This record gives sequence, structure tokens and C-alpha cells, in this order.
Amino acid sequence: MKAVRIHEHGGIDKLRYEEAEEPRLASPTEAIVRLRSAALNRIDLLNRQGSTGIELSFPHILGADGAGIVVEVGDEVRNVSKGDAVCLYPPSGCGRCEFCITDRDFMCIRLRALGERLEGTYAEYVKAPAANCFPIPPGLSFEEAAAFPLVFITVWRMLVTNAELKPGEHVLILGIGGGVATAALQVTKQMGAHVIVTSSSDEKLALARNWGADHGINYRKSDFTKEVRTLTGKRGVDVVLDCVGGDSWVKSLAALAKGGRLVTCGATAGATPQTDIRRIFWNQLKIFGSTLGSREDFRQLLNFMRISRIRPIIDQLFPLKDAAAAQQRLEDGKQFGKIVLQIAD
Ligand SMILES: [Zn+2]
Repeated sequence: MKAVRIHEHGGIDKLRYEEAEEPRLASPTEAIVRLRSAALNRIDLLNRQGSTGIELSFPHILGADGAGIVVEVGDEVRNVSKGDAVCLYPPSGCGRCEFCITDRDFMCIRLRALGERLEGTYAEYVKAPAANCFPIPPGLSFEEAAAFPLVFITVWRMLVTNAELKPGEHVLILGIGGGVATAALQVTKQMGAHVIVTSSSDEKLALARNWGADHGINYRKSDFTKEVRTLTGKRGVDVVLDCVGGDSWVKSLAALAKGGRLVTCGATAGATPQTDIRRIFWNQLKIFGSTLGSREDFRQLLNFMRISRIRPIIDQLFPLKDAAAAQQRLEDGKQFGKIVLQIAD
């Protein structure tokens, strides 16, 4: 089969579109999926660079998100059959640790995620636990079905499960454009929140307005904390989604109303900002850190997508062989929505 692999860590030049061996079933609970599309995530860049601390075996196929058709299942598989169109829940656990045996395998200390300890989705075929294969929500294309799982499950857990977002609340989303931020915009608007977004790009702010954002703030031109205070009658917002970190962190805390919640799943601008702890207890703030989400979160998300008819925002499609160009676009931060690889039929 054709796949995009790395033979060592490094830059985009390490990605090789080449012939690779097709995966084979190794357990009666696995399935093999003929992929039709794969979506890019920032974690792919970190895995390529070798900055996650997870040891990969080489050559290695990247990619955590994918969708396609089931072509083979193990003897014990009952939840999917050959011919089913599926999207993939990305993580699985060891099945034995404290977290796995209490249905929290996304918190497993030996987490096995597609594109990390498991071979990924930048390929014509992928092997996955059958329990990770879910029917594609009605109306979604293969490209859309590959684009939503990782970012939407992350957003769902942060905003719905952890922050308990309510209709009518004010939400601030930092750095609109990336996969998590655009997914958060879609979910929060669908839930009836009032949404403010930030970006350094007026073009991205305009796009966000088209997708339902109530206000956009260019943080290069004005202080977003002050703007948020003005927009909310000095009150502040109920929830901030800050996956940027760095200098934004202090401003995000300052933009919260009393009793507000801050959720984080990334630190692209810096991981060690200064925090005035007094602000947290004086203002009764809550901070939630999160990555991925549980199978129960995923089940709730699929129901929500089915009923709300949300379709993930696709930035651009690339053929599988052009994965390098696709990763370059992600690395440059030019995207608005998800960058997706199409895998020929
Ligand atoms: Zn485990």
C-alpha cells in the first residue's frame, strides 16, 4: 500500500510517500480500515519532530485521524462489519491500568494513539481496535468524518464535560483558525453561547464572523482583556478556551468573570507563563486541563453531531502524496479549519 512515513525524526523533508506493508490482524478484536481520508493535527508535527517524548518505531506512519471502509474484522468483533463506513476514535489504552479498568483509557499511562504507538492514518490502510471504529454521523463526507474526531472530542471534553458550558454563557476562544478553536466555535454557537474570538489576522476574524462568532478581536491591534471587558459590560466571560499559553495566559485569567472557567489543551506560545494565584482564589476561578476525551464523551459528541448537523470546517484538501505541503500549511498556521488528506479509492 501507499503511505507517508518517517524513517527518523526531523523536519518536513523527513516525510516520505512510499510503499509500505499492509497491516494484518494480530488479534480477534481488531479491524482493518481502507482509509479514504486522514486529517492533520498539530500532534503529527510534534511526533515528526520527536518532541513528545514518546518513542516511535521506524519507519513510522503518522496521523491520528482517519475515516474509511472496514475491510476485515477479527473473529470476536461485533460492533462493526466488513463494508461499514467508519470514523476512528483515536486513543486506546493498555486495558490493565487503574484508568483503563475504570473506562478512562484516554488517561492510560501507556496510551496507544493512532500515529503514535500505533501506526497512523497517512496510509491506504490502518489497523485499529474495532472498539475505536464508529459509524460516520449521517451526511458527513469521508473528509469531514476524518476531520472531526480528535479536535471535537477534545473540545467536547473541555467545554461540555469539564467546564459544563450552559446556553447563553459568554465564551472567549483564543487564536481562531486552528482545528480545536474552529471546532470550539461551532460547538459553542450550536449550544447557544455568545462567542468572542481572537486572532492576529483580520481575514481569520472575518471568516469566524461568517461561521457565527459574535465578536472578533485582533490581539495585535488591541488588548483582548480590555476589549472583552468592554464587550461584556465590565463583567468578563464565563469560559475561556486558551490553547495558546505564553503571554495570553495572564490575560485569559483576567478576562474571566467571577466564577469563570478556563480550559486549556495546548501551549503553542509558551508553557511556563506567570500566574497571579490570587486572581484564581479571589475570583473563584476554575482551570481545567485536558487532552482527548473518553469513549462516553465521544458517544455524546456523535449524538450531538447527528442532531445538530454540525459539519467540521475544512480548510484545504491535499492528496496523500502531498502530505508534506499539507504539514507545511499547518506549521505556518495559515489554515482556518482542518487540513485533510484525500486517499484515492
Ligand atoms: Zn491503561
